[in-house]
Amino acid sequence: MTKSLVTGGAGFLGSHLCDLLLDEGHSVICVDNLITGRHANISHLLERDDFEFVEHDISTPLFLDDEIDNVLHFASPASPIDYLELPIQTLKVGSLGTHNTLGLAKDMRARFLLASTSEVYGDPLVHPQPESYWGNVNPVGPRGVYDEAKRFAEAMVMAYHRYHGVETRIVRIFNTYGPRMRPRDGRVVPAFIDQALRGEPLTVFGQGRQTRSFCYVSDLVDGIYRLLMSDEVEPVNVGNPTEMSVLEFAQKILELTGSPSEITHKPLPVDDPQVRQPDITRARTILGWTPQVEIEEGLRNTIAYFEELLEAEQD
Ligand code: UDP
Repeated sequence: MTKSLVTGGAGFLGSHLCDLLLDEGHSVICVDNLITGRHANISHLLERDDFEFVEHDISTPLFLDDEIDNVLHFASPASPIDYLELPIQTLKVGSLGTHNTLGLAKDMRARFLLASTSEVYGDPLVHPQPESYWGNVNPVGPRGVYDEAKRFAEAMVMAYHRYHGVETRIVRIFNTYGPRMRPRDGRVVPAFIDQALRGEPLTVFGQGRQTRSFCYVSDLVDGIYRLLMSDEVEPVNVGNPTEMSVLEFAQKILELTGSPSEITHKPLPVDDPQVRQPDITRARTILGWTPQVEIEEGLRNTIAYFEELLEAEQD
């Protein structure tokens, strides 16, 4: 049986990835220190024989007796609020955590996949962003802790590939949404849905003219699995190219929730990227992947999840 280790496996993306790997017949070791991940995301898996949870901070080395076939490094605070609150942990898990997991993969002769990010493009001067674009990142700004950690991680992955011959993959993940996001992680999708369901004003930062392109989580993990199974070493963007402004997005959430909430404007965070849209030509051609879930459908599922959370809170 193929054995896969997922760091950050109790997080939003990590837990969906654990589900997919189990569905594909892998056995899964999930490693998480639960600083932003949550037990609730994996509680449905804990009784399974083919699933193991290890509570561990991957910024310190991990030694395992089992033979591992795949190491997928997803551990990191991933929302701007989280990585601003946890800047040192973010830098450590992107640097030391990547080093430790690459070391593990090398020892085990396992395949390695890094969860990288569209943040490596920073506030992009090329639009949409192809993988060949080197980015526009402020290394000393508040977002630098995440962006530079991930850029370092990519460099480390390529060094292990070139110097040690580790089989490596790099996925650059664009904005993703779906069930299991934390309502208060500060990202725009959970923020607006939570605010709309509570009847609170939707906090649009700046004029809301900045754009994002949102991918539903099932599409995203499908793209990641295809990349893992491919033999592509160079980075591959995975995201949904359907782009909209943050203001349009707020209006869509109001429409889909039927909420009476108003829209209020707050200051734009420092270095907030003005535009973001993946060029997915490489994912299309190399992986045969295109996103399948329309934004309305994905948002309806996500809204239903947040409604359940809110009901549980009120019980
Ligand atoms: N944003 C917003 N209101 C919020 C949270 C976020 O207007 O309550 C904006 C934010 O400024 C950014 C976009 O929504 O332009 C996406 O933010 P998010 O934190 O989800 O992720 P990012 O793409 O910036 O990493």
